Order: sequence, then C-alpha cells, then structure tokens
Amino acid sequence: MIRFNVPHITGNEVKYIENVIRWGRLSGDGYYSQQCRLFFNDEFGFKHNHLTTSGTDALEMAALLSRINPGDEVIMPSFTFVSTANAFVLRGAKIVFADCLSDHPNLDHTTLESIITKKTKAIVVVHYAGVACDMNPILQIAKQYDIVVIEDAAQAIDSYYFGRPLGTFGNYAAFSFHETKNINCGEGGLLVVNNEKDAQRAEIIREKGTNRSAFFRGEIDKYGWVDIGSSFLPSEILAAFLFAQLQGMKNIQEKRKQIWSNYNRELKIIEEFGYQLPVIPSYATNNAHMFYILCPSLEKRTSLIEYLRSDGITAVFHYLPLHLSNFYTKNLNGPTIKLPNCERYAETLLRLPLYSDLGENEQRLIIDKILKFVHSNKM
Ligand SMILES: *Cc1c(COP(=O)(O)O)cnc(C)c1O
Repeated sequence: MIRFNVPHITGNEVKYIENVIRWGRLSGDGYYSQQCRLFFNDEFGFKHNHLTTSGTDALEMAALLSRINPGDEVIMPSFTFVSTANAFVLRGAKIVFADCLSDHPNLDHTTLESIITKKTKAIVVVHYAGVACDMNPILQIAKQYDIVVIEDAAQAIDSYYFGRPLGTFGNYAAFSFHETKNINCGEGGLLVVNNEKDAQRAEIIREKGTNRSAFFRGEIDKYGWVDIGSSFLPSEILAAFLFAQLQGMKNIQEKRKQIWSNYNRELKIIEEFGYQLPVIPSYATNNAHMFYILCPSLEKRTSLIEYLRSDGITAVFHYLPLHLSNFYTKNLNGPTIKLPNCERYAETLLRLPLYSDLGENEQRLIIDKILKFVHSNKM
C-alpha cells in the first residue's frame, strides 16, 4: 500500500509541544509563534508575516485587507481550490474566472486585460504546484488598472520567481501548512503583507478586530474594538509543531526534490506515448510540491488510476473546474463560459505519490507500473 501523501515528522515536534505545555502558555503569539515569524523573515524576507489557522484563513484575511465590497469583481483561475474563491465570495465579490496557460495550470495572464472591467478590484494568482506565475506582466497590468494582487501561495513555500521568493510579489500572500503541503502542522497557514500601510490593520483583523497586539507590545495602555476582524491566530501548540518543521525544511526539500527528479527522469519516455510531464518555466524554480503527469485522455487517466490502485498505489486527480461547479452556476448565477485549458487539466492531470519518506523501492514500483501501463496501452 503506497499512500498519496504521508506527512514528514522531523523529530522535534513532540519536544517543542511539551515545552509549551510545561511553560503553561498555550494560546497564540508566544515563543514559538515568534520563532516562526523570525524564520520567515530571515529565510524569505517576509517582513510582515502572521501565522493563521489555515491557508483559507490567510486568504480570508487578504480579502478583508483588500476591502472587497459586494459587487466588486475578483479575477482568479478556475483551476484552483475552493478557498481561493470562497474567501472573496464571503465578502460579496463577483468571481471572474480566467483560463490556465496551455502548457501549465497557472493563470494565463495574456487573457487578463480582456476580462478586466471598471469593477475589477483584485486578481488572485495561484502558484500551482509551487511553480511561479509570470509575475512581471501580471504586476504591470495590475498597476496600470490599479488592482490589488493576492498570491495564493498555498503550495509555494520555498519557491522563487527570478530568484525572489514567492509571497513577496502581491499586496498579500497566503501560504498553507495543511498536512498535504511541503511544510505542515496538520492545519495551518501564513499571511504575508507586503506594504507598511496594511501591516497594522492585518494585526487587528487577526485579533478579532482589536488592537490587542499593540497592547501586548506595551504601545498602548488598553485595547478595544477598532475594526472588523475574526480569530485567525493558531495556538502555540501548532506553532511549536510548525517550528520543528521549519527547522527541518532544508532536509525535507532536498528529499522531495530528489524524488521529483527521479520521476521526471524515469518517466520522460512516456512523452513519446502522448503523455506530458510538468513544465517549469525558466523564470521559476521547482519546490517539488507536486509531481503530475498529463494523460492523453480522461479515459486513459481513469484506467491508469485503477491500474495503480489494484497494486495499492494511490494516485489522484485534482481540481474540478470552479466555473462548472454547482455552487457557481446555480447559487452565484455564474455565466456559462468555456475555459478549455482548465477543463483539459481537470480531465487529464494525475498526481503521483510524493513525500519525503517515500522509499526508493516504493518509487521504483510506481514508476515501473506506469511504464508497464503506458507500454501495454498504446493508442
Ligand atoms: C491547500 C490550498 C489552499 C487551502 O489551504 P488550507 O490550509 O487547507 O486552508 C488554498 N489554495 C490552494 C491553491 C491550496 O493548494
């Protein structure tokens, strides 16, 4: 039995959690939260960063910070997780879906200008599989039309665009530490704020709309209700777990990249049979969040999934297009549109098991099974 994902444990998680229990301070923003904050600043230059209880929460904070009002339009890819859209739907936004690139599931920025209107308030880019969207043209369009940019960097920790860390490009960026991501604490997230103006407001929104963070720093002598907000901060128990993971990040990343390269090298041959391997544009790095193949058809993918499953190997497809979802078409009266690239990825993309503890023999088995399937199922 080979699972699709097994969360890696660095070894210090329990020890750090025990410290938290011993010190008797379990709520958020204590010692380990601070250690995580410093790590993100030192390692990636995330000057204003805030741990959240999920990537979804970080996106919801970004929507609040963007001051999205009912009727505002927000552009995003349709090939993404529901949270990318939900965060803005909760603010009353109208979602406008864009298609993917023909060679990568990331947003096709060349279609952006045709869907921007006077009501467009924000663009959300999703760095799919941790691979950077082409940020320069996107930022230029956003500047020209005065539109907020939000990076859904949920899968993109430790990944770069022209050498600069993802998460530093948009007005805001959201990362996820869900169990399925490279670095995890079960459920968790991070909001990065890239402008001074919003740094304090982010603190307030995250602390239930109060200026409690400033109070704890001794900057004011009492705290109260100053803005809208909610409870977005994780407890120290989660921060302790996460900090142990961050300390093991180099090791985790090295192993994941090794496994990714093995797949890429050993499966290259299937491109001669109508399959495609991932494309990493020259401006982007690969953080080995995901290894996927594109199958020649939905039917081929379905039988390959079944074939692997019969040997106990779990390979999985990914997003169902949001523009075709029940909720968008029925409840939000989303228009009928065609996004051919998005629909093709939804039907043909297959993700293979990838986690740092995937053994060499296990990976060999997965590769051999795929090669065998491809050779015996020629078109
Ligand atoms: C994982 C993920 C999210 C949600 O993160 P959670 O921490 O599970 O809330 C959002 N967007 C994308 C693209 C993701 O992959």
